[in-house]
Amino acid sequence: MPYLFDHLDAIRQVLTLLPFGLITDVDGTISEIASCPEEARVSPICREQLATLTKRLELVAAISGRPALDAKEMIGVGGMVYVGNHGLEQWHDGVLQFFEGVKEYTSKVTAALDELMGSLTVEGISFENKGVALSVHYRRSLDRESARKCILEKIAASSIARDFRIQEGKMVVELRPPVEANKGTAVEALVKSYNLRGGIYVGDDISDVDAFSAMHQEASGQALRQAQGERNRYRPASFKGLAVGVISEETPQQLEKEADFTLKGVADVERFLTWLAGAAPTSTRPHP
Ligand SMILES: [Mg+2]
Repeated sequence: MPYLFDHLDAIRQVLTLLPFGLITDVDGTISEIASCPEEARVSPICREQLATLTKRLELVAAISGRPALDAKEMIGVGGMVYVGNHGLEQWHDGVLQFFEGVKEYTSKVTAALDELMGSLTVEGISFENKGVALSVHYRRSLDRESARKCILEKIAASSIARDFRIQEGKMVVELRPPVEANKGTAVEALVKSYNLRGGIYVGDDISDVDAFSAMHQEASGQALRQAQGERNRYRPASFKGLAVGVISEETPQQLEKEADFTLKGVADVERFLTWLAGAAPTSTRPHP
């Protein structure tokens, strides 16, 4: 996969497509993975550069598996849009909004948590109540593979947990409301509502692959519109998005395959955001 710093011209080119948006994942991208989620800290360099970028770009957003309010607390940059729970909720400007049909899952999450805490007694696992979703982490288990198997078995056997959709990430099994919301649908919604013509998405995990596809789908939508010819008087604004994969030892192969460019770990993301803050045009935002 092409290393991003060998292809800065391609980044410069997409940066000219205004309005431009930067969308980033959180854990493993702007924050090193910690042995438990509460211990993770956003890199101060990333935070500083994101703050600069909010003044230069139409949109700077974070999309996380964490609840939107957690992501906001963790990053703490004003002016950013925080999408939480892989697209189930969004925080912006003091308002938290839920994806349709999702809010009522809060009580089911509590019930599923109670049940699974009683039945799952594997060493090293921990539960995280995320409001409208529930995560079961097994990073601290000595035998991770058998912990994972046991978690999946108990979920399958639970009448409450079975109502949820199961999604796996790095050393985590997550129970989510069965709605069509993921990082990809979140990216699509952001592109549309901010009327973006160019964008970059940075992420490191399997759930980011949906976002990568969304960046590329919008691009093929553009090709399609162009192929439809010039006769249409009204042509919707085209969009070109680049997907940047943050590579570590735990990176799923599919992510590397779908990425346009790669970066090596959080340290490279720091370097990239610093470069981007310097390269971004200073007057792309119509209002301060
Ligand atoms: Mg991540």
